[in-house]
Amino acid sequence: MEIVTLANLIDGKLRAPADCAYLDVFEPATGKVYAHCPDSDARDVEAAVAAAERAAPAWAALPHGKRAKHLHRLADAVEAQLDELACEESRDSGKPVTLARSVDIPRAVANLRFFAEAVTQWPGESHADARAVNITLRQPLGVVGCISPWNLPLYLFTWKIAPALAAGNTVVAKPSEITPFTAYRLSQLAIECDLPPGVLNIVHGLGPKVGQAIVEHPKIKAISFTGSTRTGASIAEAAARQFKKVSLEMGGKNPAIVFADTDLSDANLDTIVRSGFSNQGEICLCGSRLLVERSIYDDFKRRYLEKVKALRVGDPNDDSSDLGALVSKPHFEKVVGCIARAQQEDGKILSGGETVKVSGRCAGGWFVAPTVIEGLPQDCATNREEIFGPVVTLIPFDSEDEAVAIANGTDYGLAASLWTRDLTRAHRVAERIDFGIVWVNCWMLRDLRTPFGGVKHSGMGREGGVDALRFFTEPKNVCIAVNEGS
Ligand code: NAD
Repeated sequence: MEIVTLANLIDGKLRAPADCAYLDVFEPATGKVYAHCPDSDARDVEAAVAAAERAAPAWAALPHGKRAKHLHRLADAVEAQLDELACEESRDSGKPVTLARSVDIPRAVANLRFFAEAVTQWPGESHADARAVNITLRQPLGVVGCISPWNLPLYLFTWKIAPALAAGNTVVAKPSEITPFTAYRLSQLAIECDLPPGVLNIVHGLGPKVGQAIVEHPKIKAISFTGSTRTGASIAEAAARQFKKVSLEMGGKNPAIVFADTDLSDANLDTIVRSGFSNQGEICLCGSRLLVERSIYDDFKRRYLEKVKALRVGDPNDDSSDLGALVSKPHFEKVVGCIARAQQEDGKILSGGETVKVSGRCAGGWFVAPTVIEGLPQDCATNREEIFGPVVTLIPFDSEDEAVAIANGTDYGLAASLWTRDLTRAHRVAERIDFGIVWVNCWMLRDLRTPFGGVKHSGMGREGGVDALRFFTEPKNVCIAVNEGS
């Protein structure tokens, strides 16, 4: 197989890294190298920042509608290549191609379109009294940095760059070195769409080299980051030294709470299963702790396990695969290690618990069976630490208070889902649990206008809708006196 060599996008051109060094990119389903990604360094970031700085004044001066047009044109180009991009995303990340086709790439298109529209509809703020009129301007920050993870590559990459660009900033972005391919394809599309040079720059490479150089660059005014809590902490520390704005979207250990009165229709049960195992459990929003009221525990467990055992793990190219491969060998080994640790903690494996050998072209791939574990105390490592794989623990509870205490019993606070027919209870519990996002009788039902993000060790700040536009702009209040001598 021919190995594809990727390039950085700097100043509107595809460029090799300054050092001419490259990293291997693996196809998780086969375990084989299929591409080389630039192993860039601070010199490439410097060139990208210089290009972004040059482009910033003209881009900021464009009327909103003209910037929106550029974003729509890019969205059109992504949409026109939806099938190819879905195959590429699947090859790069191990996720089933059906998922990339139905979720990842359509959402990347939606992100670009949503922020193109949002910025043109964003109302201004003014405050008046008898003495003065205050007009609050929202000015772009200049050059901003966007750093994204591997689990939803193009989806999360566009989720950051779209509001940054729409608000009038120029961008230096770094996708994950583990899944760089669709960001590279976006570079090609940006050139084809005549996005002005320097407006969007994409520098590939390692976090401690390229990511850190972006975070520490004095001309980069803000950092929007999605990734692990550990990396987020180091970014927050470095950014604080320069009083840089940061938005951090980090890890999670999300609960799904099923009360005894839940409508356990097949459709709802399917959603609960999906909330644990979609994208091999590699979604920050996946519910990895399934809390079930004791009076229905046994019956729920039986029906839930039937569905989990029916999930098919296989070649991501095969439309019948529900789960594909885990993203990398180190991540695969981490997840396998977490399952072993759960057993040492006296957890009982009810389903899965082992790696899966897929025959044919995927014989060398990194597959893990959807795994369900019960019998673990709520404060053990398995129930407190993020695994980020196809592993769900079942936890019985006796009362609403107990469910709330268990749900809140981790350092994380990203998303929770509640399942009940009792809306009063849903409101009450939603208020009491420490999570940035609460879904009631649904999961991952997204409206891009809503604030997205977590509390505690899951996040700082919010993305989405007006929150993203506020993050990527600086307010400036202009007070105009209406009476002489005020
Ligand atoms: P990661 O923190 O290892 O990497 C994320 C990005 O940061 C990558 O591009 C990486 O190269 C870069 N990076 C690494 N070290 C850096 C440094 N010192 N300075 C600057 N950049 C650096 O995370 P990951 O393994 O790619 O992603 C998985 C994690 O992301 C999980 O914890 C998951 O929960 C989290 N996540 C959170 C959300 C959310 O919205 N809250 C969404 C998706 C994923």
